[in-house]
Amino acid sequence: MANPLYDNLFGRHAGQTAPFLHLANGAVVSYDAFLRMTARYAHALRGAGLVPGDRLAAQVEKSPEALAVYAACVQAGIVFLPLNTGYTGDELGYFVGDSGAKVLLCDGAKAGALQGVADRAGAVLMTLNGDGTGTLPEAAEGLNESFETAPREPDDLAAFLYTSGTTGRSKGAMLTQRNLLSNAEVLVDYWRFSSDDVLLHALPIFHTHGLFVATNIILLAGGSMIFLPKFDQDQVIAQLPRATSMMGVPTFYTRLLDDPRFTSALVAHMRLFTSGSAPLLAETHVAFEERTGHRILERYGMTETNMNTSNPYEGARRAGTVGFPLPGVELKITDPQTGAEVPHGEIGIIEVRGPNVFAGYWNMPEKTAEELRADGFFITGDLGMIDDQGYVQIVGRNKDLIISGGYNIYPKEIELLLDDQPGVLESAVVGVPHPDFGETVVGFLVPQKGAVVDIDAIAGAAAKSLARFKHPRKLIVLEELPRNTMGKVQKNILRAEYAGLFA
Ligand code: ATP
Ligand code: MG
Repeated sequence: MANPLYDNLFGRHAGQTAPFLHLANGAVVSYDAFLRMTARYAHALRGAGLVPGDRLAAQVEKSPEALAVYAACVQAGIVFLPLNTGYTGDELGYFVGDSGAKVLLCDGAKAGALQGVADRAGAVLMTLNGDGTGTLPEAAEGLNESFETAPREPDDLAAFLYTSGTTGRSKGAMLTQRNLLSNAEVLVDYWRFSSDDVLLHALPIFHTHGLFVATNIILLAGGSMIFLPKFDQDQVIAQLPRATSMMGVPTFYTRLLDDPRFTSALVAHMRLFTSGSAPLLAETHVAFEERTGHRILERYGMTETNMNTSNPYEGARRAGTVGFPLPGVELKITDPQTGAEVPHGEIGIIEVRGPNVFAGYWNMPEKTAEELRADGFFITGDLGMIDDQGYVQIVGRNKDLIISGGYNIYPKEIELLLDDQPGVLESAVVGVPHPDFGETVVGFLVPQKGAVVDIDAIAGAAAKSLARFKHPRKLIVLEELPRNTMGKVQKNILRAEYAGLFA
């Protein structure tokens, strides 16, 4: 019996002394050392009572040991449930209770506060600290360094990953072995990853981007990662000369562009920069190429599906687009009301189908039925269109669509215009309740460093180029936009905060 995910990502490297992780302090963790640690952890988790199909919830700092917990879960057939390190005890209570996790793994510093959460959920509390110490590593110490891999089928669950909660309460996406492996296989090929690759990894590992896209690709390709605890500007600049590739969210790239040390010489040797999780401004794409000569490769994915589309490796990487559907992924644009496919060039909801599409939301059969069609298409909730050359463009989220006086308004159209105004760094446009129109448009502007924006001039520019119903009723200057840890703008926060503006 086999365990496809373990065998392909991890097991194939057994006994290999090639480097897997390069740490910030110069230490190297080989594949062999990593897999031996994985086996010890797998024994420790069995010892804690976890059997195949059980869930382990982990809210831990990024470390090689934390990654070994993921590997140990895959090897032992345990469903891995990583959680954002920013979640509070109350929020954790929901995830642990909802998922029915049998073990809650957390940082030792939080153990006191989280004991109650574990108790209420009937889970065992274990600890793993950022420095690799804790009760789990203690329990694993001296245990056998080989573990009989639990047999699993392609449709067995490998992970529960909760969505980022950008549009509402996070949902637990059930991901199967097939989901994860098929996507990693496609991406290694599409982005030309090989054992020569050294990926600069500064993303969190509680999210699909850093955990599955980045880590699974490197494991499958047999490359290595410069494994940084977080995005630290100095660290990233110091490590870039050793890397061949980097995956980032757009804020990584805007922050690097703000740094005079980030030069073309620093990254001349790099093979690939990718971006995703949130829209990359066309402006950033252009500025990045001007500075470095590299074109960032933007792709589009989500917790429920891993990656769906990507700009090409060879061929034009077009700013403002997320490229083409990946091999094996079907993508169509449909009418939000009727579900019928709309012609190219028209905006509608993005739907995807393929081996990457998740098995449903845990404990949410109604939500699953609403978003996952019987024919296998997943209704992503993102609005987009396919242009005349087949590139997919994301227009925004269906939930962010503004309906004012019966007209559909796509915030992105207005945001692009606002972003172009003098002194404006970025913007966000949302709909707020309005007594006459149902909803009306409010624009939030973040000025460039040291710049003062001229609200009247900007309102004038908007009035000149946009139809009247799209004019922002109010423009508000903010120091920064509310963002979650993945760099996603939280429009629901803006909507809630300014709900009373016209009420
Ligand atoms: P929730 O579903 O809980 O509201 P979320 O959708 O932000 O949260 P994730 O699964 O982390 O949770 O994010 C997926 C979403 O991120 C996509 O649906 C899409 O809206 C956005 N996204 C990802 N990549 C891109 C991209 N390249 N350009 C624009 N948006 C992107
Ligand atoms: Mg989502």
